[in-house]
Amino acid sequence: MKPKTTYQKRIVKLNKSVEALSENIIEWAKESAITHPAVRRKNNVTVCPMCGNAMVYAGNARKVKCLECERTLQVIEADTWKSIKGTLKGWFSTLGVIDGLQVQRTFEIRCRYFMKDRKREYSIRELCRHWLSPDGSIAITALPRLMGQFMDSFPFNGKIELRGSSQMVYDYIADNAEVYPEYQLIPLLSHSLTLEDRFGYGRQTNLQKVLDIANNTQ
Ligand SMILES: [Zn+2]
Repeated sequence: MKPKTTYQKRIVKLNKSVEALSENIIEWAKESAITHPAVRRKNNVTVCPMCGNAMVYAGNARKVKCLECERTLQVIEADTWKSIKGTLKGWFSTLGVIDGLQVQRTFEIRCRYFMKDRKREYSIRELCRHWLSPDGSIAITALPRLMGQFMDSFPFNGKIELRGSSQMVYDYIADNAEVYPEYQLIPLLSHSLTLEDRFGYGRQTNLQKVLDIANNTQ
């Protein structure tokens, strides 16, 4: 969409100046933004592809702790593992301040695991950016969505451009992304958020709500 308001015009400009992700964030995301798998064969031998440890696990829990590397893993049956081609994905976000605005950038990370040699192939792409001003204005720049069966279906050659202000899919993804723990908040938010708010569910919609309350009680 074309920018109409002054705020949207400002965001379109700022959107072009956003920097690439730092290596620190990428390393964190590879470890923390995906719940890594424990792949269970029919005989209940369950393998952690992160460290190669094999254990016998016959329980019903969806999550299990690797006794070797101590990661909490999601149990995936061998059949399912085959059908998803040994690939999992996750969402993560960074919270930063650009030109006095609160910006949440949300990314998709995919990992393909190779059981034999513990190799992993990661790919990361940015899906959306929420731009929140101290007075509560919101603009979203994001990849376009592909209409289809899956909610989070984005073209591979898409560009991050202005997509409006409230879009449920982008809000949902941002709300459910794992947030990089070293975040930066604009003053109004850092004064208004409780610790619970910061780590609570519903990150993006929560930020908007808290800002709204802060603005109305001043
Ligand atoms: Zn392990």
